[in-house]
Amino acid sequence: MVMKVLLVEDSQADAEIVLLELEQNGYQVQYQRVMTAKAMQHALADQNWDLILSDFHLPQFDAPEALKIYKRSGLELPFIIISGVTRARDAVSLLQAGADDFIEKSDLSRLVPAVKRGLRNAKLRRDQRNYVEKLNRLSTAVEQSPASISITDTSGRIEYVNKKFRSVTGYKEVDVLGTQASILRLDPAQQTLHEEIWQTLRSGQTWTGEICSPNNDDSVIWEYVSVSLIKNDAGDTTNYLLISEDITARKYFEEQLYLRAHFDELTQLPNRGLLFDRLTQAVSRAVDSQNNAILMTIEVANFKRINDTFGYQNGDAALRAASARIRTAVGEGFTVGRASGDEFAVILTDIDYPGQAETTIDAIQRAFEHPFSVNDNQISMLIRIGVTVCPADGTDPTNLFRNAEAAMHQSAQNGRRGWQFFTQRMDQEAERFLKLSKGLQQALDNGEFKLLFQPMMDRYSFNLVAVEALLRWNHPELGLIEPEYFIPIAEETGLIESIGKWVLREACLTAVELQNRGLTDLVMDVNASVKQLLAGSLPEITEQALDDFGLEPNRLELEVTESIWMSDSKETNVTLGALKDLGVGLSVDDFGMGYSSLSYLKRYKFDTLKIDKSFVTGLPDDHHDVALVEAILAMAKSLKMRVVGEGVETVQQRDFLTDRGCDRLQGFLFSQPVTTEKLLAFV
Ligand code: C2E
Ligand code: MG
Ligand code: MG
Repeated sequence: MVMKVLLVEDSQADAEIVLLELEQNGYQVQYQRVMTAKAMQHALADQNWDLILSDFHLPQFDAPEALKIYKRSGLELPFIIISGVTRARDAVSLLQAGADDFIEKSDLSRLVPAVKRGLRNAKLRRDQRNYVEKLNRLSTAVEQSPASISITDTSGRIEYVNKKFRSVTGYKEVDVLGTQASILRLDPAQQTLHEEIWQTLRSGQTWTGEICSPNNDDSVIWEYVSVSLIKNDAGDTTNYLLISEDITARKYFEEQLYLRAHFDELTQLPNRGLLFDRLTQAVSRAVDSQNNAILMTIEVANFKRINDTFGYQNGDAALRAASARIRTAVGEGFTVGRASGDEFAVILTDIDYPGQAETTIDAIQRAFEHPFSVNDNQISMLIRIGVTVCPADGTDPTNLFRNAEAAMHQSAQNGRRGWQFFTQRMDQEAERFLKLSKGLQQALDNGEFKLLFQPMMDRYSFNLVAVEALLRWNHPELGLIEPEYFIPIAEETGLIESIGKWVLREACLTAVELQNRGLTDLVMDVNASVKQLLAGSLPEITEQALDDFGLEPNRLELEVTESIWMSDSKETNVTLGALKDLGVGLSVDDFGMGYSSLSYLKRYKFDTLKIDKSFVTGLPDDHHDVALVEAILAMAKSLKMRVVGEGVETVQQRDFLTDRGCDRLQGFLFSQPVTTEKLLAFV
């Protein structure tokens, strides 16, 4: 190997002696000889050297000066002085100043061993310097790291903390050095976590995780923490390195995202997505523990009307109040969520037998008995509840939701009971529902609608005095469909206006035909949806129909459900007034179903009041129904209204109603809704 030697020497002859000594001992030498300080500086700066050999005295220069120049260069090289006779004092001070050795020109036998030693020492010095530099760089990096770093001994006692650690915790170095690092402490409150950390470390692995700890104020900090092992060359763990990064802001953001994605903003209740998750958990729990989970859906049946009448803001406030009432009724420990705009859902778990749900249903229904006071408005909510049981009705959350909703829609037919358990039959009905909404559009064009007529009998003679036109849809695939299945869909899609117009014209035409066939005094009742009244064109359409077919206005009576009061808007006021002016009769249908407000009855001078069939069903045995029907009859009389009892199926019901002065009777006892041919035969 070539050794590059810088010779500080004025004599070429002396230089050659030295070089010869090195070459004789196996070194291949390249050298440069310098005689001045300047030349030496240049040489050191220009090239890489392995060794400096310096004479003591030079004409313009000397060894102490050369040593200084070498030291200033920052290099780590062997610096060996070769000189004539030198005073011991000079030699010692040069060695102290950093020269490696001192050789006499007269005895060069020590040169090679001195060079060897010098090379070794210089390498050591270089390594050490690199090491220190590296260490400095590392410790600066650690000290200034944006992560909070601490180093502990193997028992978890802190030996070092960096700047970030100090600024985050607010502790000074003296406060924490020697104390136990908090996450390596065996805190009883966090025992499992700490045991897990220690176990991981003892098995020689790095532990990482997210840790939440309280701050000095009331808040908490979230940290992403890693605890790793520091090992020595022998592979023994000497320290633990704890790195933690403050992720509180990220956590907060994640939480906000989670809330936004899982909770309804208006009511703060779990939304449909989260309800599905909870239901999934409830289902697997029910299956595992061999008991039941119950899903209820609760629809605010009149919510659209509430919005129309009181405005969205009051509607929202009412929904918030409703959610609170449901939560209270259901109690702690069960999930209450908002499944859609006007639909809540409740998940009950650990239910031994399905009947247990009835207690909750009862509590929910009682919670809605009283109206909500919202900004001086009294808002009554009419709710319908559908109930499905897991695993009996299924274990798939989507199906369970569909079941509960099918039962909920079905419960509309239960009159005042307002709730319904799911049955398999409804499953098919849910499918039908979808089909219906698709087919409704073409039904009118394809002539799939027809009217049936149900007689209304006079109380004394049981003679036919009026008929109610009831709509039927002859669906090409599904056959005859009852209005309660498709009228709500028609209302939702807006098709009700054109369907209603068709019904009105068809009914007027039929009334004239029936008159021509002998039923001269017959009154035709036509049902009108609230939506038609809100649309405002009803008086015009009615007038047109009367004109076109030549029907006397007093031979036509329009039935509107009691729910019309919920939309006590300018539009309905004007429409009802205009209809009254035309001279057609007005009838309150399904009276008693929950929206009653007597002031409306007075204001619009309705001619007829039809007691809802759900009240008639309980006659004459149900005391509650008896009391209500008697009260309705007394009130109607004082308002000089005619009263029709709907849904009369038994002689007892008929007799009860006629005895108490009900003017007209309608029901299967007399006749089902029938075609005009059958009607004429009936007469
Ligand atoms: P509604 O106006 O109260 O009509 C009376 C309903 O009770 C009819 O049902 C009738 O078949 C049924 N009914 C009559 N007597 C009895 C009885 O003794 N026992 C039982 N259990 N039921 C009886 P339908 O025809 O299914 O009509 C249901 C509802 O659909 C009607 O209730 C009415 O609100 C609505 N609707 C029917 N046709 C039309 C229409 O052309 N336009 C609008 N907007 N709604 C209609
Ligand atoms: Mg009716
Ligand atoms: Mg009715």
